[in-house]
Amino acid sequence: MFQKILIANRGEIALRIQRACCELGIPTVAVHSTADAEAMHVRLADESVCIGPPAAKDSYLNIPAILSAATITGADAIHPGYGFLSENARFAEMVEAHGLTFIGPSSAHIRMMGDKIEAKTAMASLGVPLVPGSHGAIEDILEAKSLAEKIGYPVLIKATAGGGGRGMKVALNEGGLEDAIRLARTESRAAFGNDAVYMEKYLERPRHIELQIMADAHGNVVHFGERDCSLQRRHQKLLEEAGSPALTAAQRDALGATATAALAKLGYRNAGTLEFLYQDGQFAFIEMNTRLQVEHPVTEMVCGIDLVREQIRIAAGQKLGYTQADVKFSGHAIECRINAEDPDTFMPTPGRVTAFHASGGLGVRVDSALYAGYMVPPFYDSMIAKLIVHAPTRPEAIARMRRAIEEFVVMGIQTTLPLHLRILDDPTFQSGEYTIHWLERFVGAGH
Ligand code: ADP
Repeated sequence: MFQKILIANRGEIALRIQRACCELGIPTVAVHSTADAEAMHVRLADESVCIGPPAAKDSYLNIPAILSAATITGADAIHPGYGFLSENARFAEMVEAHGLTFIGPSSAHIRMMGDKIEAKTAMASLGVPLVPGSHGAIEDILEAKSLAEKIGYPVLIKATAGGGGRGMKVALNEGGLEDAIRLARTESRAAFGNDAVYMEKYLERPRHIELQIMADAHGNVVHFGERDCSLQRRHQKLLEEAGSPALTAAQRDALGATATAALAKLGYRNAGTLEFLYQDGQFAFIEMNTRLQVEHPVTEMVCGIDLVREQIRIAAGQKLGYTQADVKFSGHAIECRINAEDPDTFMPTPGRVTAFHASGGLGVRVDSALYAGYMVPPFYDSMIAKLIVHAPTRPEAIARMRRAIEEFVVMGIQTTLPLHLRILDDPTFQSGEYTIHWLERFVGAGH
């Protein structure tokens, strides 16, 4: 087992990883920017190192500074969390080149899945179904037109290097195709320094259903069931559920069997998430995330498993020690992402938190690095807390989340808590019959 783990992240996820390390008896090193000197993840770590000024590119993305911090403190492994360097294959390689362990998959798999065309090609060859679309990058407009004609409009132009919902444009008909390609290329070049794009059929009423996988270095692969992340605004998830209200246990088992067989063949290691669109009873793979997900707690709640602990054990070479048959699902879990944003305009609202009270009680979990007096900095992601509930059934989980939101107090800044209450009270949400397009309309309709 590791002697000391450096956590290359901030906020709630840094705390989440610290908690797992603490329970495993492993000391942690926090890294932080100058803007985060007073942050909770720094206060709770055994040691901390300042790695640069506020801008992420100079601190949390500063590979030399992070590797130096690990060397100076004698850490022997690095956990990247999510975001920042978690899906940077070069970083994973450099960590290993410095004789440290990267707590995650191999750099080759990170690179493969980071290129969405490569990921789709690999998954198709392993028997995983895809959304109909181009088999490679779009090179030529005439080719694109004939393909779009074949698969049928609307089509979606997506960035090969895409992430966070950026570099995606819909073309409703042939007249809009050239513009969609040009805009997706421009956005992708600006965001990712790569303008390769591909085409997919734009599905008009899918759900986003993703599967949590864990694989050890000895060929054992299990899945921990699905999460339904269909509630999105601008392709960003806001509220997630486990399990999906749309899926039966038999469908979960079938999807799980296909996915675990594919990843076993690939020789994949550590945590991963396969994302699918689900429509008319069919699953279609869209991408794989080679890291821990923001929404991993809902899976932990229904499986009773600590995914970060599993990641650490596997990175240290330990076996899973259980099989698929040992993984049991119990009840229903919901997560609300609470952002420091105006709940109507979604403008970020950084500033001083004057009072903070986290909800509690049976089946309530709060993953947050907030405290009263904390200054939410303007430099990073606006998510300030995740409120997670677990209950025997979905209606009970919804009632519990309502109660937990009413108890939750953040003063001094506006948050998206009121929006979550509105969602929970909506009959369509309560029916469980929503698609990825529902929230966008709901948010628009409310104002
Ligand atoms: P990113 O990596 O930027 O998050 P994804 O490929 O995971 O991109 O897609 C993000 C979201 O965009 C999906 O959850 C879904 O809501 C929407 N989306 C992606 N592909 C399609 C598609 N072919 N049809 C309709 N919606 C899509």
